[in-house]
Amino acid sequence: MSGRKIFVAGHGGMVGSALVRRLKREQCEIVTAPRSLDLREQADTRNWFEANRPEAVLLAAARVGGIMANSLRPAEFLYDNLAISANVIEAARQHGTIKLLFLGSSCIYPKFAPQPIAENALLTGALEPTNEAYAVAKIAGLKLVETYRRQYACDFISAMPANLYGPGDNYEPEGSHVIPGLIRRMHEAKLSGASEVAIWGSGTPRREFLHVDDLADACILLLREYSAEEHVNVGSGKDISIADLAGKIASTVGFNGQIVCDTSKPDGTPQKLMDSSRLEAMGWSPSITLEDGLPNAYADYLRVAT
Ligand code: GDP
Repeated sequence: MSGRKIFVAGHGGMVGSALVRRLKREQCEIVTAPRSLDLREQADTRNWFEANRPEAVLLAAARVGGIMANSLRPAEFLYDNLAISANVIEAARQHGTIKLLFLGSSCIYPKFAPQPIAENALLTGALEPTNEAYAVAKIAGLKLVETYRRQYACDFISAMPANLYGPGDNYEPEGSHVIPGLIRRMHEAKLSGASEVAIWGSGTPRREFLHVDDLADACILLLREYSAEEHVNVGSGKDISIADLAGKIASTVGFNGQIVCDTSKPDGTPQKLMDSSRLEAMGWSPSITLEDGLPNAYADYLRVAT
């Protein structure tokens, strides 16, 4: 990696900005594309690669969103993510990229996969309907990586992170994931003196959360050391129910009212906890617990909101 020209695709997002922060500690040249470059456009993407010729690519560009955004706008989640992955992966092959890391998501696994979910659970069962479109696009990206290795001998690899949170998250109420969504709602409830906050669904689903800076560390390790066809899970190894998470967010934010469930909203998959032992065997382990990560995320929210 030393001295290499590394393209962070999606540097404006939560994951991409964490990757840029992390790469600044390495001896490498970080390249980013201007906001005007739309990676869904094949010719524009190809031209940018031809002009810039990155030696390595971290593919963090994606259309992302929480359970409601995924359910309400599935066509955008499918099309945009298919187009971005296909364009970037093909342009990287055509223009001499040596190494590429594609980022997916733990939602690629079947809704009822045995827990903790190992990498080989992929395509063993039906997907969770609320995020099927996004998952299908991410599975297609992962398969591009696998087939480009096989057919073209490209050193392309994939990582599948757990539910991510941290600085740079999206706090829009309808589009966000659960942590930024609840941080905002509880903060606003505290300010307005509201007596209760509703969480979506039954509160019983369990999710595995990973701070985005832990993901960035894992990505650098994989970029440096991993070279194989199978994708790699990146998780904290711990899951928590949404009700318990809501309690932790309430104490972080200082909201002392009641937490109630809005069961008109979807639960999504009942549990998503990955087996990350393959990555742990390479020497990686997460270093940011929810107890440390939630105050950090709240501080980011306050910075953006005020
Ligand atoms: P998912 O892993 O794709 O389901 O990601 P989300 O972060 O969108 O949702 C995780 C869980 O949190 C689901 O069971 C949601 O119903 C629940 N949840 C509770 N309150 C909220 C909220 O305000 N926003 C979101 N996005 N999810 C919430």
